[in-house]
Amino acid sequence: MTEENAQVVVQLTAVRKEYGESVALDGVSMEIRAGEAVAVMGPSGSGKSTLLSMIAGLDRPTAGSVVVHGDDLGTLDEKGLALFRRRRIGMIFQFFNLLDDLSALDNVALAAQLTGTSAAPARKRALELFEELGITSRRNTYPAQLSGGERQRVAVARALMNRPAILLADEPTGALDSRAGEQVMDLLIDLNQIGQTLLMVTHDEQLATRCASRVIDFADGQIADERSLERTA
Ligand code: ADP
Ligand code: MG
Repeated sequence: MTEENAQVVVQLTAVRKEYGESVALDGVSMEIRAGEAVAVMGPSGSGKSTLLSMIAGLDRPTAGSVVVHGDDLGTLDEKGLALFRRRRIGMIFQFFNLLDDLSALDNVALAAQLTGTSAAPARKRALELFEELGITSRRNTYPAQLSGGERQRVAVARALMNRPAILLADEPTGALDSRAGEQVMDLLIDLNQIGQTLLMVTHDEQLATRCASRVIDFADGQIADERSLERTA
């Protein structure tokens, strides 16, 4: 199946988001199809993180609609949105957002337990992901003892636990040195090549062009440009 006729995973229609006086998103419409890897670029303050939080159901638009994996987020109440986030969305951040007092494995297993999976199968799935991501030896280590690259791989494992419809990454290499950053990028490329739909925000043009098949440039809360790429990876 080519991406052009693949299922639409994310559909934004005329999304506007205001925070008090400031307009973070100003009429954004876009579509992301199953299997795509899309990079969002643009200056600080242009609305990139706000875009991710709309798609993740972390916050609601002031106007417009967001449909993800067939769910119109505007029709969900708070509980419905929380369930939606846990089941459909995987998210990774610049600063990993791991829980310091849980081991790497428990950080990951927790994601499944929060959707009602019991401890044993949650740990089993977490161990499979540790294996796939090459971090098995770090499973009992606490975040403070992990390198930045290892922390981000644990965060990726956590994001993948519930087989999300889309993996959202907000500057995932922003806090890593270039070598660890490249390893995380390679991991995201591998995941996309086995079918994971991906939307990532990055400042790094080189990384975007390696990872993504489409780049969307944001400026002042709007889509300023959109480019299709031949992936160089
Ligand atoms: P980017 O990720 O591209 O740097 P953001 O989406 O974080 O941009 O922010 C877009 C605009 O919205 C900025 O002007 C920012 O100050 C504002 N903004 C974002 N989140 C909030 C918030 N929770 N409260 C108030 N203003 C916000
Ligand atoms: Mg941001």
